[in-house]
Amino acid sequence: MRHLILSDIHANLTALDASLEAAKRRWEKVVCLGDVVGYGPDPNEVIDKIRALDAVTIRGNHDKAGSGLEDADDFNPVARSVALWTREQLSPGNREWLVNLPVGPVAVDGFTIVHGASRDEDEYVFAPAQALDSLLEASTPVTFFGHTHLQGGFTLRDDKVEVLHFKPNDETHFANFAIEAGTTYLLNPGSIGQPRDGDTRAAFAIADLENNAVEFWRVKYDIETVQKRMGHAGLPEPLILRLSFGR
Ligand code: ZN
Repeated sequence: MRHLILSDIHANLTALDASLEAAKRRWEKVVCLGDVVGYGPDPNEVIDKIRALDAVTIRGNHDKAGSGLEDADDFNPVARSVALWTREQLSPGNREWLVNLPVGPVAVDGFTIVHGASRDEDEYVFAPAQALDSLLEASTPVTFFGHTHLQGGFTLRDDKVEVLHFKPNDETHFANFAIEAGTTYLLNPGSIGQPRDGDTRAAFAIADLENNAVEFWRVKYDIETVQKRMGHAGLPEPLILRLSFGR
């Protein structure tokens, strides 16, 4: 079965729509690694779409803060103000849906999904030393994670951790990656709604693990339209600007 792997959508409907359009008919099931809301202008619209897709979804830190499940005290002032704005926007049904999202790790069809690290959904996995625990304790050869908004990941083979980077070009839209036996993988599809690896394009992955293949995608979307909606909603200027830089 082919899975569309989405993460860190962050209430960016335009980026989500562009990604779904590009990935059309290439997948059979959707999974979402959390942070459906936070930062972006379309929390209800994005939740409605994820619910309509029947995506297997786990929660992220922004889903906890945006739904009021946790206060946003550990967020920076900019992120906190959007968490509070998101709470005001959410319909009661969508708030309820966010509150009830399961905590990763969750097993899906032979692979695992987590938001941050396997032991702690809020922990960032940026470097090999941070990836090691999740790789050693993985119950499946492939784990997908999010939270860092960086497309790439880590492999563990013969006691050695290696870092993966992908650079999908604009013509093909995706980079092919082959899964090998005897290796453990921690793979990040990147962020749909707020990429932070210097590439402004929306990021996601399509996994066909029965055929040991993962595609890492990048898709352009209309950033200006999203920035205008953020401006109208009164969201903080730094969040509007960073979409232009992918940082
Ligand atoms: Zn995020």
